[in-house]
Amino acid sequence: MKRKVNTKNVIIIVFIIVGLILTLILVNKKNFIKKDNSNQNEQKEVIENFKNFEIKKVQDYSEKHHLELNIVYEFSDDIEKDFVISSNLEGKKLSVIVSKGSIPLTTYQELKVNELGKVPIMMYHGIREKTSNSTGTIGGNVDKDGYNRTPDAFREDLEFYYQNNYRMVRLIDYANDLIETELGKSPLILTFDDGNADNFKVIGKNADGSLKFDPDSAIGILEEFKKKYPDFKVTATFFLTGALCNQPDYNQEIMKWLVANGYDIGNHTKNHLDIKTASSSRVQQEIVYVYQQLDEIIPNKYVPIIALPFGSPYSKSHSNYKYVLKSTDQNKTYETEVALRVGWEPEVSPFDKTFDRTYLKRCRAYDNNGQEFDIKMVFKMLEKTRYISDGEKDFITIPKDLETRLKEIDKKIITY
Ligand SMILES: [Zn+2]
Repeated sequence: MKRKVNTKNVIIIVFIIVGLILTLILVNKKNFIKKDNSNQNEQKEVIENFKNFEIKKVQDYSEKHHLELNIVYEFSDDIEKDFVISSNLEGKKLSVIVSKGSIPLTTYQELKVNELGKVPIMMYHGIREKTSNSTGTIGGNVDKDGYNRTPDAFREDLEFYYQNNYRMVRLIDYANDLIETELGKSPLILTFDDGNADNFKVIGKNADGSLKFDPDSAIGILEEFKKKYPDFKVTATFFLTGALCNQPDYNQEIMKWLVANGYDIGNHTKNHLDIKTASSSRVQQEIVYVYQQLDEIIPNKYVPIIALPFGSPYSKSHSNYKYVLKSTDQNKTYETEVALRVGWEPEVSPFDKTFDRTYLKRCRAYDNNGQEFDIKMVFKMLEKTRYISDGEKDFITIPKDLETRLKEIDKKIITY
């Protein structure tokens, strides 16, 4: 017997199936919405509770919810190490402050942290080999006065600084209270006067078109140490005259390379002027000439710092000194923030009351059998007086007995 298909039944079954499918879709959709809502609720709930959360949990949460997590570590006496002190969520950006534990006073004591200690600003000129005229010189000095050093002596100097836990900082950063030397290390500043060609001697181009420097030039050696000791924070400030880098074919390229590679360029007057004997208008002309050159070639990338040629004038009360800092001629405006003289001993900390960035002393980088403030003597003096960093840029850490020497400053002071 043939079974008769009942059209009515088929229609009913189709309706039921379609109905079921629609219901399933709706229920699922509802569930999705519910899930989303629950996520939002969960987010809100946790945000308020991030305080006292272990950072690991916050990291997991951020990953799960595709949040951009920004962590800042701070010392805290109340919140345990690696737990959140406070948090802030804006859109998909979550910022948390995490505890590093209590301030490590015993560590500071052990490392003799002292941010009121002294900082050596080393003065170099040429880096070159000795010549037949280099008679009667001592150690790595190329000339009798020790202004120029051999490449090997310069390498030894750098190795000595590094091994004695000195790390480089930019002169302009030191002058502006921005020392970021790591915990237990001491800041050191390098300067080169006169723009001698042997500071950055170009010997051709690399395959990629970039400048190729003589490996025995100051830059060649500094770059060698940059690779050898990345934590040395290699940098230096070069003070140029009107002859710039003394390589007419490459001057501009070298200057651009320097500022793009972590070095600084400052002013040494157009003709290496003796400021104490020149007329006031000549002083301004000579200074503004170099600033204008820097403005043209590396606009906004140079530092407003002058290294005084011959270290002159020898006193800030000299009538020409004010023109070092500012011009009076409206057509020759400039403002110098920092001035360097030729000194003999390390400078005070920028946090010291007596710190004067418009007249900073430098140490001559030369050999003299450990006498007359040569490198050996200066660093021996520094053994007991050196600046030793706490590794925190927002704190100043000093031994208690030095507190009266501290200038007024907007940083947290820690004494021990
Ligand atoms: Zn000079």
